Amino acid sequence: MNDANEAAARAAARLAAVTEVIARTAKLAGRQASEIELIAVSKTMPPESIQPLIDAGQASFGENRVQEAAGKWPALRTPATRLHLVGQLQSNKAREAVELFDAIHSVDRASLVEALARAQAATGLRRQLFAQVNIGAEDQKGGCAIADLPALLRQAADAGLAVEGLMCVPPADTEAAPFFALAARLARDNGLTRLSMGMSADYETAIMLGATQIRVGTALFGAR
Ligand SMILES: *Cc1c(COP(=O)(O)O)cnc(C)c1O
Repeated sequence: MNDANEAAARAAARLAAVTEVIARTAKLAGRQASEIELIAVSKTMPPESIQPLIDAGQASFGENRVQEAAGKWPALRTPATRLHLVGQLQSNKAREAVELFDAIHSVDRASLVEALARAQAATGLRRQLFAQVNIGAEDQKGGCAIADLPALLRQAADAGLAVEGLMCVPPADTEAAPFFALAARLARDNGLTRLSMGMSADYETAIMLGATQIRVGTALFGAR
């Protein structure tokens, strides 16, 4: 096989393996696999690594930087593509993000809520929005404090922003399940119907605990 054929076969096999785990786990949890959106996190991956996954039928992709996504995705995207911003967003890039991404998972502070409201009003675009919560109260992590979530959501509603979901990244190297369970409770208590949680190492656990969006990089692309 040539390189392109090999890349295509590898992408299809990895996608099939992850899809199979999602189906099995959803069944165990008494859920429909179709209600779980697999987001292929393609940060740092070059177009030639992403294209085979698109060709294999993958529609949803995630990036963590606006600049990187702006360089890669206009040429890659198809009508089926759903592009998710899963990294932190600076307020001065809000408009570019609204123009480029279908969903933004990192709404975490008042200034960003204001910037996104202005960007949606100026462009006429309405994106799927997730509030990111700093579920493990870590200094270096993005996300609003758990205690600040209700106020942030109120502010978003007042600004005309429809925040549908909650997003979290639990602390590394600890059991993720308690953090996922806490995120699920916070979402429920705050009337949020979507839960973006679970990465390559823990997406099965996240599905068991109610994830509707899982963000998987390494298991689909190999190591970064
Ligand atoms: C990189 C990244 C992922 C994917 O991580 P993997 O461990 O490679 O699956 C998911 N979510 C966010 C926010 C990320 O930055």
